Amino acid sequence: MQFEPVIGLEVHAQLKTRTKIFCGCSTEFGKSPNSNTCPVCTGMPGMLPVLNKTAVSFAIKAALATNCRINQESRFDRKNYFYPDLPKGYQISQYALPIAEHGFLDIGTPDIKNSDRANKKTSSIKIGVTRIHMEEDAGKLIHDPARQRSKVDLNRTGVPLIEIVSEPDIRTAAQAGAYLRKLHAILKYIDVCNGNMEQGNFRCDANISLRPLGQKEFGTRAELKNLNSFKNVEKAILYEIQRQTYVLEEGNKVIQETRLWDPSSNKTASMRGKEEAHDYRYFPDPDLVPLIVDDKWIEKVAATMPELPDEKYSRFIKEYNLSDYDAQNLTSSIELANFFEETAAPLKNKKQAANWIMTTLLGMLNSKEITINESPVSATDFSK
Ligand code: ADP
Ligand code: ZN
Ligand code: MG
Repeated sequence: MQFEPVIGLEVHAQLKTRTKIFCGCSTEFGKSPNSNTCPVCTGMPGMLPVLNKTAVSFAIKAALATNCRINQESRFDRKNYFYPDLPKGYQISQYALPIAEHGFLDIGTPDIKNSDRANKKTSSIKIGVTRIHMEEDAGKLIHDPARQRSKVDLNRTGVPLIEIVSEPDIRTAAQAGAYLRKLHAILKYIDVCNGNMEQGNFRCDANISLRPLGQKEFGTRAELKNLNSFKNVEKAILYEIQRQTYVLEEGNKVIQETRLWDPSSNKTASMRGKEEAHDYRYFPDPDLVPLIVDDKWIEKVAATMPELPDEKYSRFIKEYNLSDYDAQNLTSSIELANFFEETAAPLKNKKQAANWIMTTLLGMLNSKEITINESPVSATDFSK
């Protein structure tokens, strides 16, 4: 039997505010353990959260950039679970009424090879964004199995997050990769998230199920965690599609569970049964009033919106006469786009600037595994 994969992604993005979401502690990464803490974010009894306005503005900006509808009234809820990195015993999140809903991302045509792209006229794919909600991050546990102990660092506790949940519209690993790269690029364009995956600024869980081709109902999903690079997300999804195909072909059932990706063995392994929403006993947080976002606030944020990747892509084609492929590539990150424009500015032949960057410069940077930000040659020098 032929099976069709159904994939939905959940992304947690840290907002780059100077202070935490419900207290004035610094969000700076890499400080000595538990130094960025206070009675509020360490969950001392009687302490009250105060919402960070900048975090809300950043969430609004992300919602606008992903074509979401912003709810005029949203609420904060308590998500109850007990874990040592969560000192209050609950995470403040949004459940029934998130800040934004009903958006989408246009991910282009990721399943078509670049060499074919020029000849094929295919309409691009839109992936639905179900919701964006705001929440606080949890702390970090550092395990030391040899000495049978774990240490707790609460510096990350209370760092503002948005969780961006996609509709189960994704059908291939390549589409999942394209969705994540696009979302990552957008959050960096609008400057609300540092997007450093190694530091955990941008984290992804992937939900995957299979269904017989032609069937409407979805199958049982597995949720994959620990995906800390775009490549790993794609690899883990490919592995999971194979694993579930095998399970179903053998006449067995896929179990609803959380699985961990192990990049060293290139496999996923069961971590725990998947909790259901009722396990968290959500209820409205009585310490926080409803969040009201009026049109004036939205307009104020909208006025700070920069040119987004799709707009830049269209402009690059028009203004610099670039090919679809070049424009796609050069707008894939804000840093690369800026480097190109700075390089091209004094030159007559813009197309040549694009070629030199994409083949020569990126080739050399890739071979040294460094990004355009770390390029030892500045755009001005490169242009010369
Ligand atoms: P939870 O936190 O319990 O995982 P969410 O609603 O936050 O629930 O996220 C569920 C994610 O799983 C969404 O991205 C959704 O699109 C996806 N999803 C839901 N059902 C399926 C399914 N049967 N197969 C694949 N993905 C699914
Ligand atoms: Zn604090
Ligand atoms: Mg999930």
